[in-house]
Amino acid sequence: MSPDSTPEHPRDLSTRLIHPDYQPPDGFEAVQPPVHKACSVLFPDMASVAQRRWTDRSSYTYGLHGTPTTYRLEAQMAQLEGAQHALLCPSGLMPIALVNLTFLKPGDAVLLPDNAYGSGRDMAWHWLRERGVRVDVYEPMDVAAFSAALTPQTRVVWLEAAGSITMEFPDLPALVAATRAHEARHGRVIVALDNTWGAGLAFNAFEAGADVSVHAMTKYPSGGADVLMGAVVTRDDALHRSLQRTHMHLGVGVGGNDAELVLRSLPTMSLRYDAQDRAARHLARWLAQQPQIERVLHPALPSGVGHEHWQALCGVRDRAAGIFSFTLDERYSAGQADALVDALQLFGIAYSWGGPMSLAMRYDLSQTRSHALPWRGVLIRLAIGLEDVADLQADLAQALARLG
Ligand SMILES: *Cc1c(COP(=O)(O)O)cnc(C)c1O
Repeated sequence: MSPDSTPEHPRDLSTRLIHPDYQPPDGFEAVQPPVHKACSVLFPDMASVAQRRWTDRSSYTYGLHGTPTTYRLEAQMAQLEGAQHALLCPSGLMPIALVNLTFLKPGDAVLLPDNAYGSGRDMAWHWLRERGVRVDVYEPMDVAAFSAALTPQTRVVWLEAAGSITMEFPDLPALVAATRAHEARHGRVIVALDNTWGAGLAFNAFEAGADVSVHAMTKYPSGGADVLMGAVVTRDDALHRSLQRTHMHLGVGVGGNDAELVLRSLPTMSLRYDAQDRAARHLARWLAQQPQIERVLHPALPSGVGHEHWQALCGVRDRAAGIFSFTLDERYSAGQADALVDALQLFGIAYSWGGPMSLAMRYDLSQTRSHALPWRGVLIRLAIGLEDVADLQADLAQALARLG
């Protein structure tokens, strides 16, 4: 396209603002990729319109179907898991919806762990059930009950390791093996893992037997507490094509600026993961020795539920996310637990994790769990940020001291 005006027809300012004369010099290359933002993608000619393909990421057709920035982030998310395909979504909840909407139809059943991410559980319990999908819930540590809950209608099984809030680490290989044995008799079952906790760093989702791995990139891949994003990752071409079709039908792309923020954070993800892990384990061990604490729920500690399964799957890499929960001695009320959280000065009161600021939240699980929990005390979850660990410990100590 020539930006030049002709003397016969000087172009209007509005046109020149869109077609400026200035051309930057060639040869600019930076470490970080440029940010591409588009709805319309220009084709050089009509023949290209027919030739271009977005489904295999070999070219560009429309912003919603991908830009160089989103293709690159997809490729990096796939690579992180040793997989071939990734699809980006505008939240971490959306990949869960994408898997459910792709592989479940009325009359099917989905099997979820009792400690599944809360909004995903809610989606199943309400949205899916209202549309004729049966929702079955399993106690994540009970492989026999899990096997018994698999039915001829079960088409999707969800796994989460560690599970949300109560941090149980299930025996993933045993759950996958039970699913495959069932599948041999009753047809294909998709094993979907919410891999937000492991982030592709603590263990490999596909070696653990998952068909599909979903991530809330809002947590570690972003790391900044300022982006909402998710991904569905798979090694299987056919599953990817099915997911990609749903992704297109729902119109769930991500913006270039958000993708850029995550691309900027990914190179430091393992450093951040390990730093938060070290600090979290230090604080978890320290909390376990405090007289106000009933139990510390961290899968890398022996007091964590399923510690031996964490050890088996993550022991070699010795990695765990920097998030854990603890229960207070049962002499303390929920009101006292809230006062403890309120007294913290460095821990913000907020949802989410994986960001720079440490966060605390009290949870009441009495309405959201189908199975009884094996402890009595009030539960508080801590997400450890990047502050100095001695400062965090001092903050917890002063708040605990007020409990008496
Ligand atoms: C946060 C989270 C999600 C959802 O991510 P959002 O970006 O908040 O929608 C899904 N699964 C797990 C395990 C999470 O922690």
